[in-house]
Amino acid sequence: MKNKEVEQEHLEMQKKFNKSLLEKGHPIEDFKFVAVGYLDSSESFEKGEVSNNFLIKLRVLWSEGIILGSAGHHECEFCEGGYGTGERATSSSEKTLTDQENKIEYIFPEMIFHYITEHKFKPNKAFIEFVMRS
Ligand SMILES: [Zn+2]
Repeated sequence: MKNKEVEQEHLEMQKKFNKSLLEKGHPIEDFKFVAVGYLDSSESFEKGEVSNNFLIKLRVLWSEGIILGSAGHHECEFCEGGYGTGERATSSSEKTLTDQENKIEYIFPEMIFHYITEHKFKPNKAFIEFVMRS
């Protein structure tokens, strides 16, 4: 699944959720969904070094993050080996983190750690800054 597809899915859920909030007379939530680290071999991704501090903080945040209902099985498309050979990294959980200041809800898969350490994936600057000030 790609970042855009994940964002779209969450946007649909938010719309439904807001509709029920409105019906009950509650204020609606309007966080922007930003999916980070859903990589797909059909798209290129940003590469670069991230600091150790960033990784440590991200792991802490991961352990504190709100777990989403499993959105299915992720398999790394960048590892050598093929589907079903057991040679690729897999994960099946993802979490959300809320940036209250900027009204952003980040969604990221456990696989992000594998992408960063094994495939040099570099998340976008806003996400890195959010993690570093959390
Ligand atoms: Zn991999």
